[in-house]
Amino acid sequence: MIYLDNAATTRVREEVIEAMLPFLDKKYGNASSLYDLGQEARAALEQAREKAAKMLKVEPNEIIFCSCATEANNLALKGLAFEAKKQGKNHLIVSKIEHHCVLHTAEWLEENGFKVTYLNVDEYGFVDLAELEKAIDEKTFLVSVMYANNEIGTIEPVKEIAKICEEKGVPFHTDAVQAFGKIPVKTKGISMLSLSAHKIYGPKGVGLLMKREGIKIQPLLHGGGHEFGLRSGTENVAGIVGFVKAMELALKEMPRESKRQAKMRDKLIKHALQIPESRLNGHPKKRLPNNANFSFRWVEGESIVMKLNEYGIAASTGSACSSPKLEPSHVLLALGLAPSEAHGSLRLTLGRYNKMSEINYVIKILPKAIAELREASPFWHTRGG
Ligand SMILES: *Cc1c(COP(=O)(O)O)cnc(C)c1O
Repeated sequence: MIYLDNAATTRVREEVIEAMLPFLDKKYGNASSLYDLGQEARAALEQAREKAAKMLKVEPNEIIFCSCATEANNLALKGLAFEAKKQGKNHLIVSKIEHHCVLHTAEWLEENGFKVTYLNVDEYGFVDLAELEKAIDEKTFLVSVMYANNEIGTIEPVKEIAKICEEKGVPFHTDAVQAFGKIPVKTKGISMLSLSAHKIYGPKGVGLLMKREGIKIQPLLHGGGHEFGLRSGTENVAGIVGFVKAMELALKEMPRESKRQAKMRDKLIKHALQIPESRLNGHPKKRLPNNANFSFRWVEGESIVMKLNEYGIAASTGSACSSPKLEPSHVLLALGLAPSEAHGSLRLTLGRYNKMSEINYVIKILPKAIAELREASPFWHTRGG
């Protein structure tokens, strides 16, 4: 199988599994226990926290480990919303192309008395900075815009957004799940930032929220007071150790891997765009090195994915969460694509295990797969007529 769905999840690296194993087996202690077995787990946890903090250029007490980026994003948005409410602030700003775990949280907050502005994006997926500046008012408690988009790979102008937020005195949260390890992630001017382990060759079920000490939030989970009282629940020491190992390796290999994957991406793009009535979604340059996203008119993205599966290629239409519903992607609709075009999307996301030989196979199969599907499609035969 050729795995080209690395934005959905990644295979756990051997070094990560090795780092985790002792904490599942002999060093299984609860990090809150006072005897040696517990303190050993505590030491590993705090060492992981220090390493994560150093990589993000923040302080250890600004790292909150949790179960996934979905939780980190919920904690950032809801946690700050309920704190801000006490100060009479009730307005949240997010972009229209956020991951569902941000968008659905924003919608839930709306149902619960908060106001939300959903920022438009241009044809490439860049947020409108002028619109952002205008949207911020004295009731705004948070701006949340992702570092890079998971469907189309567009890299947002995070530095500029941070600057606007800093000038207006509004906290800025960014979902950096897809960016970390692929492009340099700079935390300067960022109040909160979310990461997930399983997108960078770490285990599923671990994430973190970086939160500046000066930002007060409410916890979502109440209990034993773990993670500075902001995320109760016995710490997943093995998962956290594996996560931080994956972060270190991702940063170490980033310069080489990003270049290598970008080469494969560019070859994919060049050849896929030779297919009639195709388009590249996202910006041609300011995109993640591992992301290619296309629309092929007159075919359904889901059928392309199934067809590629027959040829041994694992791909996606875009958002793994929305694909079973057969709804067009909210990201592609926000770019201004017609629903018919948004339906025919294909996302190919590369990873460290992919080789150029695999890409050469894919660029041979893809035109064939699209042609076969179009041959079988009544829309293709009656197009324009
Ligand atoms: C995968 C993903 C998430 C969700 O991460 P989980 O750890 O699976 O909850 C959030 N945001 C983006 C951009 C993602 O790609």
